[in-house]
Formats: sequence, structure tokens, C-alpha cells
Amino acid sequence: MSTFSIAIHGGAGTLVKGMMTPEKEIAYKTALQTAINAGYKVLEEGGTALDAVEQAVICLENSPLFNAGKGSVFTAEGMHEMDASIMDGKTKSAGAVSLISGIKNPISLARDVMEKTEHVFLAGEGAMRFAKQLNYKLEDASYFYDEFRYQQWLDIKDSNHFQLDHSVKKDSKFGTVGAVACDQFGNIAAATSTGGMTNKKFGRVGDSPMVGAGTYANNVTCAVSCTGSGEFFIRGVVAYDVSCLMEYKSLSLQEACEEVILNRVKEIGGDGGLVAVDANRNIALVFNTEGMYRACKNSEGKEEIAIYR
Ligand code: ASP
Repeated sequence: MSTFSIAIHGGAGTLVKGMMTPEKEIAYKTALQTAINAGYKVLEEGGTALDAVEQAVICLENSPLFNAGKGSVFTAEGMHEMDASIMDGKTKSAGAVSLISGIKNPISLARDVMEKTEHVFLAGEGAMRFAKQLNYKLEDASYFYDEFRYQQWLDIKDSNHFQLDHSVKKDSKFGTVGAVACDQFGNIAAATSTGGMTNKKFGRVGDSPMVGAGTYANNVTCAVSCTGSGEFFIRGVVAYDVSCLMEYKSLSLQEACEEVILNRVKEIGGDGGLVAVDANRNIALVFNTEGMYRACKNSEGKEEIAIYR
């Protein structure tokens, strides 16, 4: 039988055991389970890694618990601006969108950029015109409204503070979502989607839609999806750095992920984590924060759903 594997994350941050109610913990784990199962099913039925990561991310975008799609945080103007990217390790094709609003599943729009245009990255109004041309339905603000996120924004709205969703000791909603997978054909893919930072302004964009920073996939090395303080992940070119350490220094997937997350990005002040796979179905879930919403599953029976260290 051919083997395959998948891993997902729902953001990393100051997730401390005991700060969350048992009910909330169950809700998060159930949402992670649903998403990992959706991606796994695609792989089990002989589908591609690309389809698997898209399906897993769609599930996470549809959950109000995570900062992506439906659960996206508020910008300084009280809006939602979402970013997403996807990459196919077989062809090294990639697609990304940034600063988009009203789109239920930004990851699918990113995939459409990859497959239906000559470009890699569309942003803002142009990306919205592209979505319109493809007849994407626009959700109104109420679809994205969430009381917790609104309060989170009200707390800092009139200040100059940005807030990474995972950077405060609150017991609830955290982070960006992402998925990586290796399919039965040994092809790998990565996808990442986010609402960014609470109270962000000036068209701020983090690492999530940036190929090489928040997302990267190359069959020769690895597929990576990151979450964390985006500015540092951009400066560290984190996802590609993992790939480089494997390609040029022959580090294993786990060694490369640990070197980048526990040393390199940490040294420049970045906190967060990543999920990664290689074409041998190995999985790495590495973070330098107190916790990361994460799950993984492979065809050999390994399965894990976890939040804390
Ligand atoms: N990396 C994301 C950003 O900076 C945020 C996150 O991972 O929670 O936009």
C-alpha cells in the first residue's frame, strides 16, 4: 500500500494549560480533528497533496475558532483583510492573495491565482476584481462578525498597537491556519491562510501569503506552513530556510525545522512555529511558543491532536 501523511496547525502562541475551559479545549480539538480528517480522506482516496491541503484549510477557515476566513480578526478600520497562499511541491507552482475581504475561503482564491493566471501573487482591489471575474460570492460583514474578536479589537482600537492574535494570555482564539501533506505519489504541498493581526493598518501584510516566508513546498525537500510573528518570519524567510538547510546541508526534516524555529528565528526575536512534511512522509511539528494548535495523521496509523507543549 502507498503511504501518505498530513499535518495542520491553527496558530501558535501563549497557550497555557489550565487557561482554557475544558469545553473550549474540546471545541478546538474537534475542529482540528474535522480538518485533519477532511485532508486525510482526500489522500486516502488517492487524491493529491494539493487537494488535501486545500480541503483541510477550508475546514479551518470555516471554523470561527481560528484567525482565518470566518474567524478573521478586525483591522484598525474595523474590517477584515485576509491573506493566503498555496504551493505545489511537484511543480513548484504557487498562488497567493493578500488584503482581500468578503471571501469565504481565501485559500481557494490563492489556488485559482496559481492555476488560472500567469501570476503568483494578487493583492487588494485587483485580487477582488479577479475573484469577481471568477464569480466568487461575497459574504457580508455579519458572516465574519465574532463577539470575542470584536472585543479584542475594541480593547486596542484607539491605540497604536497591533496585536498578534496569539500574543496575549487569553484563553481563546488563536491564529493563522495551515496544512502540509504528502500524497500516495510522493508529491507534497503546503497551504496557509490568515486574518493577520488585530488592529493592523496601512495595508500590513504578514508572512502567511509570502512564498518562502510563511509557505513553501518543493518535492526535493519539504512542504512548510508557518504561524507566528509575521514580520520576523518574513525577515527569516523561514519556510524556505527549512528547505535550504535540507537541500544544502542535508539536515533531516526535523533537524531543519528545529534549527530554524528554535534557533534562527528565535535569535531575531520571532515567536511561532510550523508544520512540515517531506516526500518520505515524515512529519515535523515544531514551535518555540508555549503551545500550537496542531494535528497530524499518516497512513501507518500515527495520529496526534495537541495544543500545549
Ligand atoms: N503569521 C501571521 C501574520 O503575521 C499571524 C499568525 O500566524 O497568527 O499575519
